[in-house]
Amino acid sequence: MATNSPLPHPSVFLGEEQLKIIRGYRVHETRTPNRKLRVVTPSQTIGPFFSPGLLQPGDDDLASLKPGGARAQGTPMIIRGQVLDESGKPVRKALIEVWQANQWGKYEHPDDITQAPLDPNFKGWGRVLTQDDGRYEFRSIKPGAYPNPGYDNWMRPPHVHFSLFSAGLMQRLITQMYFPDEPLNDIDPILNGVDDLAARASLIARQLPDAADGSNVFSFDIVLRGTQETTFFIEP
Ligand code: FE
Repeated sequence: MATNSPLPHPSVFLGEEQLKIIRGYRVHETRTPNRKLRVVTPSQTIGPFFSPGLLQPGDDDLASLKPGGARAQGTPMIIRGQVLDESGKPVRKALIEVWQANQWGKYEHPDDITQAPLDPNFKGWGRVLTQDDGRYEFRSIKPGAYPNPGYDNWMRPPHVHFSLFSAGLMQRLITQMYFPDEPLNDIDPILNGVDDLAARASLIARQLPDAADGSNVFSFDIVLRGTQETTFFIEP
């Protein structure tokens, strides 16, 4: 029941030992005025903190429905990169989810009304947590271009959709990874809607030498903030 009685200062309901713990805690030091407050609002690190239990075996592999299962058709590829903060420090345990079209440019989604075929062995989405060094890696097949319905002759260049969520973010970040040397990149209204050339370049992966198994390898780092920030998209 609400009362008009002022709430006591924390020193009343916190023991001396607990007060020692919060003394020196930056936000308390900087925010607590000299006079006693009726209510102290403590700060709290923003979660979420993802558990490895979120991940199932094979979630890092878009090109198969289950570990060891039949492979999707197309050019095998590996996407790897590092998630970094503004100062270049790795961001660990960031949750990255990706989704993409199959090699014929078809999404397994009811809104994809194109006539391109589905691939029964292509899962088309993946999920990983970054390692302690901020690194992540997915296996997939290279996606195809696809027409954007309702826009004459607009073919979207091959791309992979990314979602990133980590501790300290108030909401997830979304972006798209494009491939180098794709002619459709030059005429795509979405990619070229990013005016700043450096910001646009942040969306294009670098191709590395092929892996031992012949997979194409692409590097795509994600920088959360600062002058090197990756371009993020808003949801329509
Ligand atoms: Fe897409």
